[in-house]
Amino acid sequence: MFENRICAVDFCDRTAAACLAQQAFCVSHFIELCYENLHRIDPRGQSAGRMPLSLPTLRAFVEECSRRALDVALHCRDLDNLQRGRLLDILLWAGELFLLLRIPRSSFADSVLPESSPVLTGLAARHF
Ligand SMILES: [Zn+2]
Repeated sequence: MFENRICAVDFCDRTAAACLAQQAFCVSHFIELCYENLHRIDPRGQSAGRMPLSLPTLRAFVEECSRRALDVALHCRDLDNLQRGRLLDILLWAGELFLLLRIPRSSFADSVLPESSPVLTGLAARHF
């Protein structure tokens, strides 16, 4: 699926292994982006200066992140143990957030995100 494609991150020439928000990334950058964005949407770590995104958009990101992480874990042959551990961590974190997103709490429904998140902005663009 990703044959002959390289990572979308500037100056990275590694082969793409996963897609997120319609962009292909190498395993390392995929893991990095998942962590970065899960951290941003986790209500337990919210900070000021974020833009509002709807619950369906947040759910869509968490679902995509989880599905892609599972795909990489199952189909990528060159993973080391640290990458496997991180993919499992992403799956567990996404699963936890997915449950939190199903709780009808206004504080979480009003979750907001930093404006400087190209992956989430790209995802939001697909849903609006
Ligand atoms: Zn990369």
